[in-house]
Amino acid sequence: MLADDLLIRLRDALGADRVLTSDTDVDDRRHDYWVLSHLQAWSETFDDRPGAVVRPRSTADVQAVVRLAAETGTAVVPFGLGSGVCGGIRPDQNMLLVDLSSMDRIRKIDDVNLVATFDAGVNGLVAEEAVAALGLTIGHWPQSIALSTVGGWVSTRAAGQFSTAYGNIEDMVYALEVVLPDGTLVELGRAPRAAAGPDLRHIFLGAEGTMGIVTGVTLALHRQPEKRTWRAFHTPSLTAGLEAQRLIMQAGWKPPVMRQYDAREARRTFRPWSIKGRGILLMAHEGPAGRVDAEVAAVDGLADSCGLTRADDEVGPHWMENRNHVPSWEELFEQGLIVDTIEVSGPWTGVEAIYDAVLADVGAVDGVVAVSAHSSHAYRTGVNLYFTFAAAAPADTADSTDSADSADSPDLEVAYLACWHAVMEATARNGGGIAHHHGIGRVRKPYLAHELGESGLALLRTLKGAVDPHGIMNPGNLIPDT
Ligand SMILES: Cc1cc2nc3c(=O)[nH]c(=O)nc-3n(C[C@H](O)[C@H](O)[C@H](O)COP(=O)(O)OP(=O)(O)OC[C@H]3O[C@@H](n4cnc5c(N)ncnc54)[C@H](O)[C@@H]3O)c2cc1C
Repeated sequence: MLADDLLIRLRDALGADRVLTSDTDVDDRRHDYWVLSHLQAWSETFDDRPGAVVRPRSTADVQAVVRLAAETGTAVVPFGLGSGVCGGIRPDQNMLLVDLSSMDRIRKIDDVNLVATFDAGVNGLVAEEAVAALGLTIGHWPQSIALSTVGGWVSTRAAGQFSTAYGNIEDMVYALEVVLPDGTLVELGRAPRAAAGPDLRHIFLGAEGTMGIVTGVTLALHRQPEKRTWRAFHTPSLTAGLEAQRLIMQAGWKPPVMRQYDAREARRTFRPWSIKGRGILLMAHEGPAGRVDAEVAAVDGLADSCGLTRADDEVGPHWMENRNHVPSWEELFEQGLIVDTIEVSGPWTGVEAIYDAVLADVGAVDGVVAVSAHSSHAYRTGVNLYFTFAAAAPADTADSTDSADSADSPDLEVAYLACWHAVMEATARNGGGIAHHHGIGRVRKPYLAHELGESGLALLRTLKGAVDPHGIMNPGNLIPDT
């Protein structure tokens, strides 16, 4: 429980309407979009909630909140719009949740230098629409663009669907304003590039609320493209599709959208246009018209050289129109199922081994009913894989007569965590990166050493200890206990 005295002082500093303790206000922000939190809340096996929610309107408000938290040793959990999918938000009664969504000012759009500065709580789609009105684009289109904040993008190292040309969020961040755990304000980044020691912005990119609160974000922009066109191909095999992707990327072409679906996902996602047993590679091409035309011609040739055949180009616009559908976890729980997605990455020489190992290992988990993958972000050096799996309660624990019982949380949890374990281990064993763009949170925390190594993990703990010596920033998230 939070002390009454702290709540009084918070109300004095921010105004009474900015400090919320009612059941509804607090319950709405108990957790993020992590499916396991949803399952546990749905099956009433998880009861934690923050002691209070504060809704700062300005950077000065955030500083006041953090100073009071530091003085009283109160843990602070930053909250954007709660669309994170890894369990980065699970506060308890002793913690203060800082909801940043009232910090929603578009501070400045500079259409000569192509930068725009936002309060951290600005909704992603609102930010994009504001720059679009001036003929510009951020170029960052996560599927959750309307459900997430600019500060959340930075804090999770997010990637958008058009990343292959426009880059991931770390390529777009020009400057950051951050409130440190003692209330100090730092402003980092002031020119197009700097050789001025380590880039301190990266302490906060992907920190998931453990190093401070991001209050302002300046992003570099692009002018909207003159032309966009779509291409789609049937892939005779994953090997052929990956080879085509590699050749296209390494030739220097940059289709902003480049997605390869395995045969199972091609059937599920593009049934009217798919061929049984074949995958689909779809691409958007955009930019100056001359470059787009040259890219399309070159890509046609490279795809042909790998044995790919043209599919109906309707596939691209169909994907574009339906790409942001968000499933309701609860409907699946009712059916006794749990579904999740896991994104990893690998070098060109290792990615197929990762795909094969994950399909085999997840497929062997008791209760798994489906596992498949597509790639959605490509680089000169390799590509990501985005797995989707569905599991029912393992056969020996499910009650076959009652679907509500068979969806019993502990049984589904066993299958769910076994799937995650299988993906993390198979990826690491085959030389891949365990987290492409959703972050670490609680679900991936036990596997962070696969990415950083034990000495890297020790360095991260040292850094955390230096920035947040009293451990008040989002405790329990991201960094495994020693
Ligand atoms: C349907 C769906 C589709 C998605 N698609 C994508 C996708 O295409 N690409 C992608 O990268 N992700 C995707 N995600 C994941 C999620 O949207 C991103 O991680 C997003 O960046 C989170 O933003 P948020 O504002 O909702 O952050 P939250 O979920 O509120 O917070 C995420 C983490 O960051 C911390 N945090 C939030 N704001 C701040 C701040 N201002 N300062 C410090 N810490 C902060 C929180 O404490 C938490 O640990 C998707 C999620 C859903 C539900």
